[in-house]
Amino acid sequence: MPEGHTLHRLALDHQKALAGEVVRVSSPQGRFEDAAQLDGEVIEAVEAVGKHLFYRFESGAIVHVHLGLFGRFRKHRQPAPAPRGQVRLRLQTEQACFDLSGPTACELFDPHEYTTLRARLGPDLLHPDASRAEAWKRVKKSRRALGALLLDQSVMSGVGNVYRAEGLFAAGLHPEIRGVDLESRDFTRLWKVLVGMLHDGVRDRRIITVKHFDQAEGRAVRRQRTWVYKQRVCLRCGDAIRVWELGLRTMYACETCQRR
Ligand SMILES: [Zn+2]
Repeated sequence: MPEGHTLHRLALDHQKALAGEVVRVSSPQGRFEDAAQLDGEVIEAVEAVGKHLFYRFESGAIVHVHLGLFGRFRKHRQPAPAPRGQVRLRLQTEQACFDLSGPTACELFDPHEYTTLRARLGPDLLHPDASRAEAWKRVKKSRRALGALLLDQSVMSGVGNVYRAEGLFAAGLHPEIRGVDLESRDFTRLWKVLVGMLHDGVRDRRIITVKHFDQAEGRAVRRQRTWVYKQRVCLRCGDAIRVWELGLRTMYACETCQRR
């Protein structure tokens, strides 16, 4: 599943290509029935919040997209080829064409539906005004494991399975520490690590976390992209990585480097 950096990268790219433009909107596959009523309108802005994308039209209409596990965008230059496969949504300007296929959600929102969804989402780590204090409040009152809380988009939004494993490792925290037992300074460290990693992800267009430890442990390490995620042994200490299910996803951690 795409993590927050992917959505913010898409929002930046789509904002650049679509904002202020008259946009042809269609649903080649036919499943987004509201496409016709948006066709020929101007898109004002494209926004990412956590793992959600919002396209605001001048009329006040908002298109909400959630990629889920299988959703993806393809970009074409004009003249764009005929839609391939099940394209739910096609957005076109004179220069560019974006095809969306396989999303979990692609739907028309009114401002009320937008506000309701926003209220459900915790602070977005990639948003410049994201409130660490607000996220901390939600973590601190929970008896759930930190590793599960990081994936709960109502606690904070943008972290997926790779960043949760890598962020907890880089902050030296065990995934099973309960929210209530976490120290404020540990949460602050974790928050900063995650914000840094997510911003790097937007810039790099992929997840490379190993450079977050510059006391580089030799050449072998630099070829790797992650410290513990999908690794067999810890790149720092060499101990075996523990792999188990936490918060319904596979967790990876080094129990030597990450204390409880
Ligand atoms: Zn280790």
